[in-house]
Amino acid sequence: EDVFLNGRFLSPAEATLSVFDRGFLFGEGIYEVWAVVGQRIVDTESHLKRLDRSLAECGLPTPPERDTLPQILTELVRRGGLTDGFIYLQITPGAGERDFTGTADTRPTLFIMARKKDLLGAPALESGMAVDLVPDIRWLRRDIKTTMLMPQVMAKKNAVRQGLKDAVFYDETGITEGASSNIFIVTESGAVRTRPLSHKLLPGCTRGRIVALARDHGIQVHEQAFSVEELLTAREAFVTSATSLIVPIIQVNEKTIADGKPGPVTRTLQKLYIDYIHALPPC
Ligand code: PLP
Repeated sequence: EDVFLNGRFLSPAEATLSVFDRGFLFGEGIYEVWAVVGQRIVDTESHLKRLDRSLAECGLPTPPERDTLPQILTELVRRGGLTDGFIYLQITPGAGERDFTGTADTRPTLFIMARKKDLLGAPALESGMAVDLVPDIRWLRRDIKTTMLMPQVMAKKNAVRQGLKDAVFYDETGITEGASSNIFIVTESGAVRTRPLSHKLLPGCTRGRIVALARDHGIQVHEQAFSVEELLTAREAFVTSATSLIVPIIQVNEKTIADGKPGPVTRTLQKLYIDYIHALPPC
């Protein structure tokens, strides 16, 4: 399956980068991930908009292929014969001397790959998952989708070591987000609650879509932070992300959420979201 690197479709073995790439030396880079479901790329435009914002916020150069990205994504899906999976895109400034404030001597690095994965077949979609609550030790520009993912990798690996599936972060102001997702709870009245956007969390494209779909279908959404206690005593809880779609949370560490089963509002939103995806035009 070909990948795309700096203007060319290449086999993975041919696609190589300089050891002087600033993405490698400094972790100076941003990324995006799209879900592909039934040959449909989900929310191409909102992810591209967030990509542009990430570049601007980090002062990174825009790669020359920017305007043709929608066609390149489609081409990768077609070449890979991908029905279900995800597209990963990363941009770094390119290669240069190891100097913090230096610039690259090359064009920006643009790497894109499409990988197969049965997103709709993930067991957690149906059964829900248990998560680990972890203090949020990340920086305070989590609204930018950077490749500096060490805290997330550590939190997720530590969760898996404990037999849990994923990690959810909290700070002194409440639950922030999942390690690679946004988090929602369902309140007593059946309304959905999720933290308002700020520098403390990533503006998830799936989050945005779910909020819109819920409102369109008469489900109340409150963009309001919630505490650890409110998560533990919620009627329902779930996380959203491009590749996991909507996953019910049925347990947080030792505490079972409600009756330990995915709840009706979560199920309704899963259905609305999957129906929405199936109505998108295929590649
Ligand atoms: N929050 C974090 C920290 C993430 O890494 C992700 C996705 O990977 C999300 C939220 C969800 O964003 P999206 O719905 O755009 O995938």
